[in-house]
Amino acid sequence: MEFAFIGRSNVGKSTLLNGLCGARIARVSNTPGRTQLVNFFELDDGARQLRFVDLPGYGYARAPSAVRDGFERLVDGYLGAGRARAGLVLLDARRSPDETDGEAIAYLIERGVEPWLVVTKMDKLPKAKKKPVLQGLKAALGVETLWPTSSLKREGLEELREALFSSALPG
Ligand code: GDP
Repeated sequence: MEFAFIGRSNVGKSTLLNGLCGARIARVSNTPGRTQLVNFFELDDGARQLRFVDLPGYGYARAPSAVRDGFERLVDGYLGAGRARAGLVLLDARRSPDETDGEAIAYLIERGVEPWLVVTKMDKLPKAKKKPVLQGLKAALGVETLWPTSSLKREGLEELREALFSSALPG
């Protein structure tokens, strides 16, 4: 079962993939000049297999046409194949979501791919800010569920990995 990972550059996608996979493998093919490739990562807990698909970062260019050209064109080829069980959209806890994030979510929905919203770098927020920030994100994005994570502190990773394995089970 495949899960697509998308997010703007520097959101912490490689670090999260490393954390979920339990090994420092996510950067292997992320060499300069090859960042537009779609990279695949296999995860196996002994009984179950997952495949993470690391899609190229968006937000390099702000113009909608550039987003379409750089992000949608390449991602279209993958998502159009109907392989992804869900698309994990990564959001930095310290940033307000902008139209590019909204576009990414709408884009997944249009293609029948369920968006899962993962908040990264939760450790950067003071404790008192965590709940209000998550509530603000939910309101801004119109969603009920977020997956807060800190790859640095290894918080939220087990919960997310387990949810991914569980949702990948047949039936
Ligand atoms: P990518 O471009 O989305 O793949 O982002 P990276 O995984 O390369 O991370 C970008 C930067 O954010 C790096 O300096 C990471 O060390 C940092 N980073 C990633 N995850 C976390 C996190 O959970 N907490 C903190 N504090 N920093 C993080």
